[in-house]
Amino acid sequence: MPEAVILSQGNELTTGQTLDTNANWLATQLWALGVPVRRMITAPDRLDDLVDILRQAAELAPIVISTGGLGPTRDDLTAEATSLAFGTGLVEDLVAMEQIEARYARWGRPISPANRKQALLPTGCTVLENRWGTAPGFAADVDEARLYFVPGVPREMRPMFETWIAPDIQERHQIAPPVMHTVRVIGVAESALEEMLRPVQVDGLTIGFRTKLPENQVKLVFRADVPDRVREAAVAEVRGIIGPKAFGVDSGDLACEVGKRLVARGETLALAESCTAGGLAAWLTDAPGSSAFLLEGAVVYSNEAKVRMCDVRPEDLEAHGAVSEPVARQLAEGIRQRAGTTWGIGITGVAGPGGGSPDKPVGTVHIAVAGPEGTFHRRLQLPGDRHRVRQFSAAAALNYLWRGMR
Ligand code: AMP
Ligand code: MG
Repeated sequence: MPEAVILSQGNELTTGQTLDTNANWLATQLWALGVPVRRMITAPDRLDDLVDILRQAAELAPIVISTGGLGPTRDDLTAEATSLAFGTGLVEDLVAMEQIEARYARWGRPISPANRKQALLPTGCTVLENRWGTAPGFAADVDEARLYFVPGVPREMRPMFETWIAPDIQERHQIAPPVMHTVRVIGVAESALEEMLRPVQVDGLTIGFRTKLPENQVKLVFRADVPDRVREAAVAEVRGIIGPKAFGVDSGDLACEVGKRLVARGETLALAESCTAGGLAAWLTDAPGSSAFLLEGAVVYSNEAKVRMCDVRPEDLEAHGAVSEPVARQLAEGIRQRAGTTWGIGITGVAGPGGGSPDKPVGTVHIAVAGPEGTFHRRLQLPGDRHRVRQFSAAAALNYLWRGMR
């Protein structure tokens, strides 16, 4: 299988002013094409270094993709570095010059000498037209390798890759892209998942794990020649082993899937949030169409609000405190009753960093889900900082609702 080297050029990258999103994006694209990446190199605009790096890259892999350094300014050195690295010399490329002239004519602007510099390309290269900006890209063949050069601006680089480079790679190399499925899981640790799935042995399948808080994902990567039926059976096997905590395959996130299920069942939801203060409502409404199931959400921070908006009994607040099982239950039941919804969720907890006590340390959260068959409650002791506690509280609440809907 041919491999690739990704080279990102620019002082803005090595001084931390710009995040190198190009390399990340290209790696994703190459992965989808079935091309493994051998190296990702980031370098400042320094001619001598670039010359070395380009020579090395061409020896490392038959596909090299470089972004950046094609601009009109003096610090953009890619064409010169390529010419020096491979002894080609530079010429004013007529095709490139025509494309630049045509662009400026369309804009009705005069061409500056700096723009002319952008047509100065290594002799013998192939111009990659830039319809999305001014700096043309180019491709150069060095022995067995083909090096592609595109500008650093992501909105120019991306279509140039898609239009010129990806098809060229596919044409030159017979590669069959792998097929990937993502199983999305809530409430099972990565290490537990790995343990559970150890018995799954399928020829051509590689299993990977990824944490994308608050969920964990199992990535099933199948070699292209694995038959559909084997692939489908393997996905079903993995899903079966994990059970209901696997809430989707190639699906949206938990909030999205909960919303879809509520809509499919014609059911509705109301929220009474204390420590998450609307975080769950915001998450559920990230997906469009959430008004079909989410009727209302109350942020009930003070005791008084809990009483006034959810009919929590003052004597229970007094006796058990705001962070307690009776209060969580009454929040869920009270908001459900008042809103007239199928489901009600109550969340109350100590998000920290202050407010903890020996019997209710930071991270203590009570969650209740009230539904047609009664109220489910859990007390959780969540790790992490304030942000994590709030994020996990919302996720746990959705997880319980998800399971309650089965
Ligand atoms: P250049 O093609 O080197 O003139 O780059 C033009 C602009 O593209 C830079 O000023 C950055 O804003 C952006 N850019 C360059 N390289 C990258 C990269 N690797 N990731 C994201 N943005 C980049
Ligand atoms: Mg640059």
